[in-house]
Amino acid sequence: MSLYVHKYGGTSVGTSEKIQNIAQKLAHEKNKTGYDLVVVVSAMRGETDRMTKLARGIQAAPSAKQMDVLLSTGEQVTISLLCMALEALGQKAVSYTGSQVKIITDDSHGKARIEDIETAKIKADLDDGRIVVVAGFQGVTADGIITTLGRGGSDTTAVALAAALKADECRIYTDVDGVYTTDPRVEPKARRLDKITFEEMLEMASLGSKILQIRSVEFAGKYNVPLRVLSTFIEGDGTLITYEDDDMEKALISGIAFNRDEAKVTLSGVQDMPGIASAILKPISAANIEIDMIVQNIAEDKTTDFTFTVHRNDYDKTMKILQNIRAQLGAQKVLGDDKIVKVSIVGVGMRSHAGIAGQMFTALADEGINIQMISTSEIKISVVVDEKYLELAVRTLHESFGLSQE
Ligand code: ADP
Ligand code: ASP
Ligand code: MG
Repeated sequence: MSLYVHKYGGTSVGTSEKIQNIAQKLAHEKNKTGYDLVVVVSAMRGETDRMTKLARGIQAAPSAKQMDVLLSTGEQVTISLLCMALEALGQKAVSYTGSQVKIITDDSHGKARIEDIETAKIKADLDDGRIVVVAGFQGVTADGIITTLGRGGSDTTAVALAAALKADECRIYTDVDGVYTTDPRVEPKARRLDKITFEEMLEMASLGSKILQIRSVEFAGKYNVPLRVLSTFIEGDGTLITYEDDDMEKALISGIAFNRDEAKVTLSGVQDMPGIASAILKPISAANIEIDMIVQNIAEDKTTDFTFTVHRNDYDKTMKILQNIRAQLGAQKVLGDDKIVKVSIVGVGMRSHAGIAGQMFTALADEGINIQMISTSEIKISVVVDEKYLELAVRTLHESFGLSQE
C-alpha cells in the first residue's frame, strides 16, 4: 500500500477555511486513491511568534524548558481542528501530539534532535483506514518531558515520520509552489526548479533559505526519503529534492541564499602568535555562541585583526565578551557591526568550473557593493555585505548567473 506524508506549514493552516480546504483535499485523495496518509501540521500562522512575545512579557529570558511547554501548544490546536474538519467530511481521522506518538528526542530544549519514533500506533490506525494527523515541531524525552525541534521544525517531523514509516514520498506543502532559484519575495524573477540535489538544498538551507529546516534536508539525505516541496494552493509538481543525476539542469549556479541574521565583530591589533585565536574563541563558545565566518589578517607591524560573524541575537553578548578580554590579550580595539548580511551562491556546477568567484565579485563591484568578508567551499561562495545592499546583491547575482526568468 502506498503511503504519503504531507506537511502543511503555518500559512497553509492560517484560518479555519484553509484548514477545511486541506481536509477536503485530503478526503478527496483518500477516497480516490485509498493511499495511507499521515499529515503533519504547523501552528497557525503567527501563533509561535505570538506566544514567544507573551513569554518575553513575563520574563526577559524564559527557560527553554518552559518555552517548549508553551510553544508546543500551537501545533496541538491545529491537529484537533484538522481532525474535526476531516470528521465533518465523514473521514476517519486521529490526532497525535509528539509525545502521544512518542517522537523521542534528546533534551536540548528549543533545538531537540529526534532519536526514535514509535510507529506501531500509527500503523494500526492506517490499517484501520484512518488519516493520521501529527503535531509538527515537537517531541518528548525518554523521561516524558516536552521538547521542540527549533523554528521550522515541522519539516523535520514530517521527514522523520516519512523515514520511520518508509513513506513513498514526503510532501512539504507551503505558500510557494516549490524551491526557487532564490526567495521569490526578494527577486520576483526567480524561477522554480524542477529538481535540486540534497547537497545544494542543504547548503541553501544552511545559508539562510528558510523554505526547509536544515535538519529535515539532512534527515532526508541520510535516510533516502524522497522529498518534494509544493504549493498548498496551486496544482503542480513542485520541486523534487534528490540525488545528483545526469538529467539535472546543467547550471553553474542553482540558487542564491541570503541571511539577514548576521553580525560582525572585530578584535583589532592583537599579537600574531600561537594561541590567540583559541584565546579569543574559547569564551565565545563557552557562552554557547555559534561562530560562522572567521577572517584573520596580518598587518605589517605583525599584529592581526581577528574578525568573525555571529547570529545577530548574540551580538551584544559577543561584544561584551570581547571587551572583557581585550586588555588581557593586549588588543587595541573592539569593533562591531550588526547591520550586515550574508549573500551566497550555491551550485554543484561550481566544482568543475573556474572563474565563478571572479564573476561574482565583478558583478557586485559593478553595482558599487563593497565585499567585507568572503568564504568558500566546494559548492558555495558567500560574501558579507552591508544590509542596505541585500536586495541589490541578490538581484544582481541572479541576473549575472543567468537564473532570471526570460
Ligand atoms: P511554512 O510556513 O509553510 O513552513 P516557510 O515560511 O517556512 O513556510 O517557507 C516558505 C517561504 O520560504 C516562502 O514564502 C519564501 O518566501 C521563502 N523562501 C526562501 N527561500 C526560498 C527559495 N529559494 N524558494 C522558495 N521559497 C523560499
Ligand atoms: N510553528 C513552528 C515555527 O513557527 C514550527 C513550524 O512551523 O515548522 O517555527
Ligand atoms: Mg517553514
